[in-house]
Amino acid sequence: MEERDLALAAVAAAVGDVEVAKSLMELASAEEFHEVELAQRLDMTQQEVRRILYALQDANLAHQLRTEELEEGGRRVYWRLNLANSRDFLRSRLKRIRDLLIGRRRLEEFSEFYVCANDPSHHRVRSDDILPMLMDGGEVTCPVCGASLEPENREAMLSKIDGLVEAIDEVLRLLG
Ligand SMILES: [Zn+2]
Repeated sequence: MEERDLALAAVAAAVGDVEVAKSLMELASAEEFHEVELAQRLDMTQQEVRRILYALQDANLAHQLRTEELEEGGRRVYWRLNLANSRDFLRSRLKRIRDLLIGRRRLEEFSEFYVCANDPSHHRVRSDDILPMLMDGGEVTCPVCGASLEPENREAMLSKIDGLVEAIDEVLRLLG
């Protein structure tokens, strides 16, 4: 992966917005920038911009350089992007997602779900949660369309998760 693509991916992941990440990357060529400048550039309030910058700081992708007291009151904070940390950040973010997927897989593996027989996206419920109703002789139906519920095809879900984990492993290999 090219360094620039890597940096863009990392910044986009940290701020959760590709367009914002692109604008930030354009500014990155500047030694330093301040919040007002960035707010104008992104057409955002200073408060929104600050939230983005703190998210980048948490990801160790940006540093506060200095604070300038303004004559008219208030202060201006200067920042610099730290794109050298892109690779590490992406790696740790992907590992975290991978852990979540593995945890989810374990959950899927050991619990049974029921889904709407019409359209599984309507309703999905753990069998433990509807067992008491079934034992009482009641009928459990989809709250969206009223169709009956049926045991979910777990294999499809498990192989979907396995596919995602494999894809993440592949990207982690590329990141080195
Ligand atoms: Zn339904």
